[in-house]
Amino acid sequence: MENSLNNSRREFLIQTGKAGIAAGLSVTALSSFAGNYSAAGNFLGAEEIPYEQQPLPYAYTALESVIDAMTMELHYSKHAAAYAKNLAEAVKAENVNTGNEKLTSLLGKISKYSAKMRNNGGGHYNHEFFWKSMKSPVESNSPQSAIVKSIIKDFGSFEAFKTQFSDAGKNRFGSGWAWLVKTADGKLVIGSTPNQDNPLMDLPAGQAGVSDLKGIPLLGLDVWEHAYYLKYQNRRPDYINAWWNVVDWKVVQQRFDAA
Ligand code: MN
Repeated sequence: MENSLNNSRREFLIQTGKAGIAAGLSVTALSSFAGNYSAAGNFLGAEEIPYEQQPLPYAYTALESVIDAMTMELHYSKHAAAYAKNLAEAVKAENVNTGNEKLTSLLGKISKYSAKMRNNGGGHYNHEFFWKSMKSPVESNSPQSAIVKSIIKDFGSFEAFKTQFSDAGKNRFGSGWAWLVKTADGKLVIGSTPNQDNPLMDLPAGQAGVSDLKGIPLLGLDVWEHAYYLKYQNRRPDYINAWWNVVDWKVVQQRFDAA
């Protein structure tokens, strides 16, 4: 069962990849990791994300019991599409050579660019990363022992980790993201960022309203109201509790291994 699901997912990704290539998108679109770029240095191993919006890796209805199809469609085709479009404008206006400059590297020196680049570069990266962090609850998988070991070492227990991560999302005032990151010294750390900031950004610590969370993202949760309001209205905690059912732990493990 697991294998046939994997095979059909692989087949789907291959087909999606062909569609992407036909549409003139990057061949490196699917699940590549930064690996060996040297520009930013600090975050080798962070998952690479192409500058263009990629096909959603599942149907709008795929996460239905947790995230309704209308929310998925609006979130992907309106909100996230707008971040990608505005990022394209910003890289053009600010002369970024996207052929040479990986998005992770750009985010690693975002303080040198405009607010438009920061908001939309983060917005685009975070959403692409978010779609890939989830899968249908029908195909749900459990975390593998390698990451569970690290989670228990750094948070005491898997339940304690889930509570701390959920609280980071629940307590983020206004709009933003909850994150699990691997820091430069190899520790797993939970935190949150406001707006579309993310832990790859070189934002100065101690600045009012700016998170100083830094590290390689392994898991990110969108807690903007647009991510849940149609189904959950003001009940952000219910959205967060349900969301654990669609986390793709295989992807989190891949990111952990690469980081
Ligand atoms: Mn969003």
